[in-house]
Amino acid sequence: MPTETVYGLAANGLDAKACDKIFAVKQRPANDPLILHLHDRAQIDQLAQAPDCLDAIAEAFWPGPLTIVLQRRPIVPDRVTSGGDTVALRIPTHPVMRELLKACDFPLAAPSANPFGYISPTRAEHVQDSLGGKIRYILDGGPCSIGLESTILDLSDPERPCILRPGKIHKTEIEAVLGCPVTQNKTPVNSAQKAKAPGMLSRHYSPRKPLTLFREVPPLALREDPEVGFIFISATHPQRSDVAGPSWSLSESGDLDEAGQNLFHCLRAADTSSAREIFAELPADPAAATALSDRLQRAAARF
Ligand code: AMP
Ligand code: MG
Repeated sequence: MPTETVYGLAANGLDAKACDKIFAVKQRPANDPLILHLHDRAQIDQLAQAPDCLDAIAEAFWPGPLTIVLQRRPIVPDRVTSGGDTVALRIPTHPVMRELLKACDFPLAAPSANPFGYISPTRAEHVQDSLGGKIRYILDGGPCSIGLESTILDLSDPERPCILRPGKIHKTEIEAVLGCPVTQNKTPVNSAQKAKAPGMLSRHYSPRKPLTLFREVPPLALREDPEVGFIFISATHPQRSDVAGPSWSLSESGDLDEAGQNLFHCLRAADTSSAREIFAELPADPAAATALSDRLQRAAARF
């Protein structure tokens, strides 16, 4: 089903057997916990221990692209939390998803609807392309308006709020609501460790073709190679017309929100194009586009 961030593969989040099927279809490692999606704030107390600051966070950011990690209650299956004592919760804003959640009297566990580790889906056809033969229904809600996964904020220890995954909702916005500093977990974990947020594996969101990132204009030999694909942030710098191979721009005007919205679509297009390898431009100021830079870096990581 659609959300404003990416398309999700949904199951009843209180039914461990239903959640098993998510892991099977995605080939997702069992130590990668699922996010539970809810229709409203009132559902949370049954699932988790809400700290005092939760209402301010809910008021400011929900429904929307923010996931909160809290201490779980026993009703949440181990399958969802990967056996841990915390659970991740989000109230999304996509109107189709909200209607679906309202119709269900249970939370929906829903990781991204793609094979584990591959580029996330931001359109119904992306889901069809990679999981079409394995799932029964795809709810088409149009292209995702944000196109990058939610910000994950760990409030399981409310004294030490920590961002586990950057997203559209920025650290400074959260700090303004909480009135205290929030740390950003920057250490990439490798797959051998049990990850606190496995979305933080250094390699994730990755195309099958080699992906290299650049900030400076790439060398002429690459730009003249018809088998090198280029993904630029804007249409003008460097010029798309300067390259011989296939090319895409994430935003005509260089708008970073629009770039985030189009990133996974363009990565998929490049991965299925005639290009042998892909070069993608990093935002000039990573601090102004933390989520976009994070996804590009993980997509390009070799392991
Ligand atoms: P996705 O597969 O994109 O839906 O992302 C789900 C991600 O949410 C996981 O990979 C983790 O990074 C994060 N997550 C889910 N549950 C928890 C949890 N209990 N603690 C920390 N992170 C979590
Ligand atoms: Mg995912």
